[in-house]
Amino acid sequence: MTNMMKTLVKAKPQEGIWMEQRPVPQIRGDEVLIKIKKTAICGTDVHIYNWDDWAAKNVPIGLVTGHEYCGEIVEVGKHATHLKVGQYVTGEGHVIGQFSRNARAGRFHLAPDTKGIGVNLPGAFAEYLALPAFNVIQLPADIAEDIAAIMDPLGNATHATLSFDLIGEDVLITGAGPIGIMAGAIAKHIGARHVVITDVNQYRLDLAAKVADVHPVNVAKEDLKDVQARLKMTEGFDVGLEMSGNGQALAQMVDNMIMGGKIALLGIPGGPVEVDIPKLIMNAITIKAIYGREMYETWYKMVAMLESGLDVSTIITHHYGIDDFQTGFDAMRSGQSGKVILDWG
Ligand code: NAD
Ligand code: ZN
Repeated sequence: MTNMMKTLVKAKPQEGIWMEQRPVPQIRGDEVLIKIKKTAICGTDVHIYNWDDWAAKNVPIGLVTGHEYCGEIVEVGKHATHLKVGQYVTGEGHVIGQFSRNARAGRFHLAPDTKGIGVNLPGAFAEYLALPAFNVIQLPADIAEDIAAIMDPLGNATHATLSFDLIGEDVLITGAGPIGIMAGAIAKHIGARHVVITDVNQYRLDLAAKVADVHPVNVAKEDLKDVQARLKMTEGFDVGLEMSGNGQALAQMVDNMIMGGKIALLGIPGGPVEVDIPKLIMNAITIKAIYGREMYETWYKMVAMLESGLDVSTIITHHYGIDDFQTGFDAMRSGQSGKVILDWG
């Protein structure tokens, strides 16, 4: 191993991302060193690329970015005795604090002092990543590398979709981005009846229909009440998964729920959003906000579903070698893509 490696860095406070050489990280006793095989570009990476207000406030200049990846352990810290060189892994991207009430109660995903790989801490767009052993997810060999590289967003979809009982239920997903589409595949896998997914981007709706057995609806052209009538639904959707971050989509969801319906909110709006609270109360709607993945129950369920036939492989629409990263980011920013894989091999 040479002691320098290729990385993708947020090198300047302006639009773009840059390839730079950096020293291979030195691991601590409680860490492992992972040789990265494949990475995926996340919506978060696009925010960092675009250098919007959120990115400028949260991401230090000079940071190695990226948090969706898979690879192989090549070095094990002296306290990480349960792990071995050669293991096929991915990792939870939220590095939790140890001392909050929630962390000490074992509610790791609710630790308030969490930091993000590739957002606040050095990331995975690199030939090597140092990761706390606690965050390592060991993978069975039959999970393909492309899928392993997108388990972080698949985990967001899993956490939201498994929040409520979906068996035999009618589900409305607003936002056919990669996470919304994968949520549709999960909802069908676990036994939902109708899954309706909305968007205003026709490419994304067509992709949704390829990936999963869902009803895509372009809400710029069709009314959800008409869709309900077409599906012979009479009382509204039982469960809503808001995955667009768009306030109008949320309002539409609230208007189309059954009395007593349940909504999981995953999409992150750019700012405060108006919500019709009287309508929520009169319809006795339950709302749960979803952040990240449950550590580590979401990962367990995700692996189990992948091993029992959940297939999200067609959500991956583009593959590039890492030297073509710019083309990959361009594809991701065009809105005409699902997940984009960058290969470090
Ligand atoms: P994405 O931006 O690719 O997808 C959002 C989709 O919503 C787009 O296809 C867009 O066209 C669509 N949309 C816009 N307006 C709409 C409307 N009125 N009705 C229906 N659809 C509409 O994002 P993604 O990567 O799939 O992630 C989904 C959301 O989840 C994003 O808001 C992202 O920031 C958020 N997110 C949250 C967490 C979390 O922990 N809560 C984690 C990851 C991502
Ligand atoms: Zn991500």
